[in-house]
Amino acid sequence: MAKNITGDLDAWRDLPALQQPEWDDPAEVRAVAEELAKQPPLVFAGECDQLRERLAEVARGEAFVLQGGDCAETFEGSNADAVKNKLKTLLQMAVVLTYAASVPVVKIGRMAGQFAKPRSKPTEIRGGLELPAYRGDAVNGFAFTPDERRNDPWRLLKAYHCSAVTLNLCRAFTKGGYADLRQVHAWNQDFVAGSPAGRRYERLAGEIDRALTFMHACGANPDEFHSVEFYSSHEALLLEYERALTRIDSLSGLPYDVSSHLVWIGERTRQLDGAHVEFLRHIRNPIAVKLGPTSTADDALALIDRLDPDREPGRLTFITRMGASKVRDALPPLIEKVERSGARVAWICDPMHGNTFEARGGHKTRRFDDVLDEVTGFFEVHRGLGTHPGGIHIEFTGDDVTECVGGGHPIDEDDLHQRYETACDPRLNRGQSLDLAFMVAELYRK
Ligand code: PEP
Ligand code: MN
Repeated sequence: MAKNITGDLDAWRDLPALQQPEWDDPAEVRAVAEELAKQPPLVFAGECDQLRERLAEVARGEAFVLQGGDCAETFEGSNADAVKNKLKTLLQMAVVLTYAASVPVVKIGRMAGQFAKPRSKPTEIRGGLELPAYRGDAVNGFAFTPDERRNDPWRLLKAYHCSAVTLNLCRAFTKGGYADLRQVHAWNQDFVAGSPAGRRYERLAGEIDRALTFMHACGANPDEFHSVEFYSSHEALLLEYERALTRIDSLSGLPYDVSSHLVWIGERTRQLDGAHVEFLRHIRNPIAVKLGPTSTADDALALIDRLDPDREPGRLTFITRMGASKVRDALPPLIEKVERSGARVAWICDPMHGNTFEARGGHKTRRFDDVLDEVTGFFEVHRGLGTHPGGIHIEFTGDDVTECVGGGHPIDEDDLHQRYETACDPRLNRGQSLDLAFMVAELYRK
């Protein structure tokens, strides 16, 4: 690599960067970036390489991804209970999917860094008052007051610290015995036994139980039953933040964005000649790009050329978010052309972002049935083409919120106000997430 790496890492500064907050004082932003650049890495190059290898298995059809977490993490939510509940739910889903898919499930949180949001409008009007839109806790506050909505670059530093706290909890929970396979399975049994809706999964839960008992009887008790490999991810939206946390790995001499194991480019910032694609091109982490229903096969090929010129399996993942009514038409042409090009990307389905609508009472929501239908369509399309449905990407929480409608304990549009707590998009609650895992497991086995 004879290239001037520093130049490459800053070339994005000369290109249009969409969705960046306007800061009052550039000198203050520089001071924050300098402070961030002095902070220790949150993740290590070797861990990012390991995730790239796991995603290569996904691209080859040998593993499945479960990626999820809040739409927008909050500073307040960086506490032990909230993180534990999310992880617990993710691990429960993963056990069901591992059993059904009979391949390893790569567990990736939308956690420990998901603090910045792209917005469709720069301002929000309520009761005649117009204020800047909420752009995530890394930028401004959620409360609708002039003071809270002011962009404050020092929040970037707080986002780093909250990411560190969250990742520390995730590492402790997944390595320290909490993630024990039998324990996670016991939680699933509680879910199944605890409600009439859960009971329809009794057969699958019973099969998992017998498999575990059999392994136990054989004397199998490997380390993998007691701890879990877990990775962090977030949308690489705020380029000053990502740049300040990009370091040259001493072993390989290559740049890694040490803010998360995987970072992705959102649907609104994936312009080929834009700053986000330019920046992510130079980091060695595994990366992903969201593809919405207007994406063309040529867009996908051009992104591959730019972001994965060596066609390295695991380097690039496409997260498709077409909408339940479009996935069966919009996805096949993309997959066909990409596969014909010889590239081996991992394909993951985000069944959330193409299915958002406004409920009667004004809450942004999603129907559980639409989410399930998009995943079903995603599986159908891949099965039809002989390609691998590589995973799902969801917005969920481990708490009993009322943000999405439907599910096993149905939530109605009129119930949404009861516990509508999201700082951005509506999330599946704990029960809806487990419902989805069992239903996707059934799909996988069809
Ligand atoms: C998101 O993941 O919260 C998001 C904004 O998604 P997308 O870029 O797909 O719209
Ligand atoms: Mn979202």
